[in-house]
Amino acid sequence: MTPNLKLSAALVAAALAAMGSSAALAQKAVTDQMIEADARTTGDVLSYGLGTQGQRYSPAKQINTGNVNRLVPMWSFSFGGEKQRGQQSQPLIHNGRMYVTASYSRIFALDVKTGAKLWKYEHRLPEGIMPCCDVINRGAAIYDNLVIFGTLDAQIVALNADTGEVVWKEKIDNYADGYSQTAAPLIANGLVLTGVSGGEFGVVGRVEARDAKTGRMVWMRPVVEGHMGKKFDKDGKESDNGVSGTPGKSWPGDLWKTGGAATWLGGTYNAKTGLAYFGTGNPAPWNSHLRKGDNLYSCSTVAIDVKTGQIVWHYQNTPNDGWDFDGVNEFVTYDEGGRILGGKADRNGFFYVNDAKTGQLVNAFPFVKKITWATGIDLKTGRPNYVPENRPGDPTGAADNKGKVVFSAPSFLGGKNQMPMAYSPDTKLFYVPSNEWGMEIWNEPITYKKGAAYLGAGFTIKTLNDGPIGALRAMDPKTGKIVWEVPNNAPLWGGVLTTAGNLVFWGTPEGFLQAADAKTGKVLWKFQTGSGVVAAPITWEQGGEQFVAVSSGWGGAVPLWGGDVAKKVAFLEQGGSVWVFKLMK
Ligand code: CA
Ligand code: CA
Repeated sequence: MTPNLKLSAALVAAALAAMGSSAALAQKAVTDQMIEADARTTGDVLSYGLGTQGQRYSPAKQINTGNVNRLVPMWSFSFGGEKQRGQQSQPLIHNGRMYVTASYSRIFALDVKTGAKLWKYEHRLPEGIMPCCDVINRGAAIYDNLVIFGTLDAQIVALNADTGEVVWKEKIDNYADGYSQTAAPLIANGLVLTGVSGGEFGVVGRVEARDAKTGRMVWMRPVVEGHMGKKFDKDGKESDNGVSGTPGKSWPGDLWKTGGAATWLGGTYNAKTGLAYFGTGNPAPWNSHLRKGDNLYSCSTVAIDVKTGQIVWHYQNTPNDGWDFDGVNEFVTYDEGGRILGGKADRNGFFYVNDAKTGQLVNAFPFVKKITWATGIDLKTGRPNYVPENRPGDPTGAADNKGKVVFSAPSFLGGKNQMPMAYSPDTKLFYVPSNEWGMEIWNEPITYKKGAAYLGAGFTIKTLNDGPIGALRAMDPKTGKIVWEVPNNAPLWGGVLTTAGNLVFWGTPEGFLQAADAKTGKVLWKFQTGSGVVAAPITWEQGGEQFVAVSSGWGGAVPLWGGDVAKKVAFLEQGGSVWVFKLMK
């Protein structure tokens, strides 16, 4: 470096310091350190879950139980077009900008102060995409100067955060075979981690890790027992990285080859354990009599070492699932007396607490009031106590090719589904968006055909009574007790946010974003967003003020698959927007 250049660099640094912007500029490129600190930093929201641990807790407390009634909208932005449908996206906030995805694989960059549109990327979708549960997207990841998100045709796209131009784009798999991508990608240790959707088509669930800056594949880990893992060198050369589990151990015959276990909701990551936690979906097909055995690693939490791509532990919530109880729900890690634990509210109606390092089951209890398939979880063996007569019957030899019909609760839409819960280190409670409903379910003969639905089952979702279906529940992970609940007529389908202001925020299909006292559940504020809220709210601080934001737009799985419940909520209107709120002065 010449003396002149040294001098000018020093001058620039001095000038930036004088402008007070050197810190802002230095932080523009998002680093692993920033992502690992995301849960503690209130000036940005860099990850799905407000921190890769997924706690959805913000230390911001300017908005609190004493003033939340003065929360008013600052701006709203329409996602436009006729492409409304379900809006399940959690926005990200960085460098004064909001990055929010929308239905049909779109993403917008907005100016946080004004709501002005900076750019939009609209992914070109082919005919024949096969998302199971609406054309939704749950959000983006951010790394370096890239905004990264998955698309309905099973691609992952990285965009320049300033311009929206494509920097890299990779195909995850063939959409025509049933693959799609709706979850927010997870950043861990410079890698971008994604799962796959398509569990109803007999895909093979897996987790893929790519270099977040370039998109180059680093490792791939299948989560169906018997499949070979892969790793890739700097030139992209592929080599074996060990088989997942033991071939033939938990699956009969060749069924593992189309075993399902789709990792469609993505994962969480704890930098202290170095493990990424991915939930896995139903084994395929739904008819459990075809696949005697546990069918690993379906309906499980799978902990993967992000450095090696190896499975370190697994815990199976529903062995030999026969009800479509996808175990995809988020594993939210938290500290408890020097130990790192993880909480998971499973679709099957039970809440599980596992040791985040070893997977050891610490506690398990129901978070919904009616469960028919098991009477409880044995804490010694970690296995459910099944009620055998409540398993849908074997269709083999049945006169009408239909096995015994059973009434099952929860329904396959779950005690909880994709809507993420929150955990507060202040109250030490989980805030779980839960639903009480059931289904009639039966099995039918089925054979696998690539790209075709692979269920071997029929079903109708039913209400349990005329009362509310949804309930936001504050659950104590130590006692298993419901500390408080706020019932809701329609099934809850949006995520939760909790803050150091002793607040819990969540949305309803009826259109309200609402806030309650985190200790008591007393609802203190609500605002009508114009359409159903099926997304998770966020909060952050900028320029000395705290903001709250949420996407609005009714849709998702309930109107498509909800049977009698879908009819009950058919009056709800679609929409497509994002709202930002702040305190009225
Ligand atoms: Ca942050
Ligand atoms: Ca499923």
